[in-house]
Amino acid sequence: MSVPADNDALRRAGAVLTVDLGAIAANWRGLRDAGRANGRPIDCAAVLKADAYGTGAEKVGPRLAAEGCRHFFVAHIDEGIALRNVLPGLPIYVLNGLLAGAEGDLVEHELTPVLNHLGQLNAWRAAAQRYNRALDAVLHIDTGLNRLGFNQEEAQVLINERGRLRGLRLALIMSHLAASEEQSNPVNGEQLSRFRAFVRAMPGAPASFANSSGIFLGPDYHFDLLRPGAALYGINPLPERDNPMLPTVALHARVLQVRRIDAFQTVGYGGAWRAARAGRVATIALGYADGYFRALINRTHVHIAGRRVPVIGRISMDLVTIDVTDVPETECQPGDTVEVLGPHMSPDELAEHARTNGYEIMTSLGRRYARVYVDNPHTDEPAPESEAQTPASGDQA
Ligand SMILES: *Cc1c(COP(=O)(O)O)cnc(C)c1O
Repeated sequence: MSVPADNDALRRAGAVLTVDLGAIAANWRGLRDAGRANGRPIDCAAVLKADAYGTGAEKVGPRLAAEGCRHFFVAHIDEGIALRNVLPGLPIYVLNGLLAGAEGDLVEHELTPVLNHLGQLNAWRAAAQRYNRALDAVLHIDTGLNRLGFNQEEAQVLINERGRLRGLRLALIMSHLAASEEQSNPVNGEQLSRFRAFVRAMPGAPASFANSSGIFLGPDYHFDLLRPGAALYGINPLPERDNPMLPTVALHARVLQVRRIDAFQTVGYGGAWRAARAGRVATIALGYADGYFRALINRTHVHIAGRRVPVIGRISMDLVTIDVTDVPETECQPGDTVEVLGPHMSPDELAEHARTNGYEIMTSLGRRYARVYVDNPHTDEPAPESEAQTPASGDQA
């Protein structure tokens, strides 16, 4: 992906984020097909929280709906409200649940809360009574993450007293894995057993369990609805193996100035980098305010025409300095662009340099970047093979 140079609006942009909606769609098809490989009609949702992991929920949502995606998850009610405008008629589930007093907002915008405890369930039932309508609800059962969801005792109450759901339409029951990216972690199988037991005790409602990495744990984990986020956007769901997903973003930053420096001169705040030889330094237009973390100091590089160029000195709020001594002068002039993310640097690799994960790199992508949406055709969609392994402690049936 390169920046289309013929766009007037991009002439003044300091940095340009290019999002390939076609690649996101191809990733979605690949994950959906991994579920369908089981021979059951499994659906694949899309998690669009945090602005679709930084890529732009209001662009990604409709693109995936056009691809056939019928279920969408966000974290906040306001994220759901924003999406509702571009996704009329399709279910949008709010993972963070029902906030007291927000029932009217959910009803007005036709958002479905993911209910996380009995108190929320009761409040939503009361709303159903007030509005005199069977409202949709999702139940989130905690099976070991201990973050959100009905605990095991409350889950037992639901099983014993089905009347507690009266007046609601149970759209989905779900749970969330704590260590799905570690394929051999026994916690996966333990959570699966608990979730299975609950699903069996609540017949009739569709079930959803697998996030991106969970899909790769095999068909036992798929249930009725897959729930990927990260993998849609190209983050590697299998950190110990080659990434099966297509990259979806590229980031190019403009060279603002190029200067000569002498040996032993320092560059940037605190004089944190000192030149060992005379050379040239280029200053480019992004910084920590754009999600290019300060933790990257002296730990990463960018690319100019495929050539690796070290980032030097402290990351500033709006600026980064790079050592271009070894780049021919004609290839690094003010106004030129350098590749920050792209074919030579994935969000996952930059994340390693910043000692974080690809999720944090993606969701921190700067709000100041000019954004270009492309829709490249991809017929080479990933065909993730899921590990058809039997979980150590999962009960079979
Ligand atoms: C964020 C989230 C997901 C998506 O997880 P990925 O690892 O990004 O695929 C699924 N379910 C819940 C409850 C989540 O919070």
